[in-house]
Amino acid sequence: MQSYENLYINGQWVPSRSGERIDVINASTEQAMGTIPAGSAEDAAAAVAAARQAFDGWATTPVSERAQLLDALHRGLTGRSDELARIITGELGMPLKMSQRIQVGLPCAVLESTIKLLRDYAFEEQIGNSLIVREPVGVVACITPWNYPLHQIVAKIAPALAAGCTVVLKPSEVAPLNAFMLAELIEQAGFPTGVFNLVSGTGPVVGEALASHPEVDMVSFTGSTRAGKRVSELAAQTVKRVALELGGKSAAVILDDADLAAAVKGTLNACFLNSGQTCSAHTRMLVPQSRYEEAVALAVEAARGFSVGDPFEGQAKLGPLVSAEQRQRVRDYIQQGISEGAQLLLGGTEPPSGLERGYYLQPTVFGRVTPEMTIAREEIFGPVLSILTYRDEEDAIRIANDSIYGLAGAVWSADPERAKRVARRLRTGQVDVNGGRFNLLAPFGGYKQSGHGREFGKYGLEEFLEVKSIQL
Ligand code: NAD
Repeated sequence: MQSYENLYINGQWVPSRSGERIDVINASTEQAMGTIPAGSAEDAAAAVAAARQAFDGWATTPVSERAQLLDALHRGLTGRSDELARIITGELGMPLKMSQRIQVGLPCAVLESTIKLLRDYAFEEQIGNSLIVREPVGVVACITPWNYPLHQIVAKIAPALAAGCTVVLKPSEVAPLNAFMLAELIEQAGFPTGVFNLVSGTGPVVGEALASHPEVDMVSFTGSTRAGKRVSELAAQTVKRVALELGGKSAAVILDDADLAAAVKGTLNACFLNSGQTCSAHTRMLVPQSRYEEAVALAVEAARGFSVGDPFEGQAKLGPLVSAEQRQRVRDYIQQGISEGAQLLLGGTEPPSGLERGYYLQPTVFGRVTPEMTIAREEIFGPVLSILTYRDEEDAIRIANDSIYGLAGAVWSADPERAKRVARRLRTGQVDVNGGRFNLLAPFGGYKQSGHGREFGKYGLEEFLEVKSIQL
């Protein structure tokens, strides 16, 4: 059991005024692995007051000092990376080796790249008779989800702190233990009092208190579109800046000249990563009608290779889903796919045999999916691939864009120019061509109801900066 008794507010570990607690459940054993405080609106207000008090001092701290403190945090994070990976695998269920590389390795790399960027960034420029200065936005509330919990926290707090903002973090109540470890590391790194504050708790209580607090200047939110809309409504009352990273229903467009085997394999990898609990998962595979049977055979064969098992042992590629609630949601979607007439090619609603304990589910592939079916429209957030067919390139682009979401996508083609042409026409924030790798300096974010604002690199830093013109 890893229990945290207190919240981190104004440089102190203090009990929640609510006195209530939240259990953290291990996804593969279904047992409690820790508890955390269920913070209250009063706790949120105390943290905002601390962040407000600390703001002027932190905003005017020289860049070199801010960078040194972030360096110290980076050393702390890398020093505890094994422990962090084990905690996140317990909370979430991602296989341990992948957690080490993705759940912890990625945020370490993001932090390192942010520090480098900070040291090189030109905060001022001259345009004619104007001096343009970039200044921190102010007090930032960061509200984060459970699926890449530490990564999503670092993607916000690293650029926010680098920019000179002060922070109140409300991590996901489903996978919060890693956030407490991070707060310990921030304390050890020696950041000034009140620059970073942690208030755990539920979205409707702590999240809403932060989104509506008049002394919060910006809310940076990652999570569901439903909660993102609520945060926007509340934040609008005091005209806060809001950055939203929300859901997705991304399409992989496999053109008729593509290397089909590589395209199908790449799409499955991008769909099933983290048991499909990835906002940018490629969950709709669009194949030409003429190559449907071939694509189906390849997809089923590749999906069978996604072995399910204990995330702490062996070679399993898929661990359990995060929670009973999440698994039930995914099962309901699978059932809906079947009842709306999609063809279940592999998997289904039952757990894999021998894995009755833990929130396990089989990798699932649907064929003959049509664009109006629920499983082609809604974010499932589980290991479920939908295969759709198209007539020609125009039809493929139309189907790919026929979504309320616009987070990510892919194009596969033997002709790089053709692939780029199609990539430009997809209404999404990122498109991977022929399996193009994730680039942590490239902006990440959504079009349409996938949100607005960008994370990572220069664009991510600028989210946390105001722009002022001084005429000389
Ligand atoms: P969620 O929206 O339920 O929760 C996300 C965070 O918001 C949590 O901290 C939660 O406590 C808080 N929250 C919930 N209701 C709130 C409210 N009314 N006001 C303020 N805060 C509230 O999402 P989740 O289940 O944790 O995560 C899964 C979702 O996140 C998926 O839809 C996924 O697509 C999305 N996601 C998006 C990205 C991205 O970058 N676009 C990345 C990861 C996850």
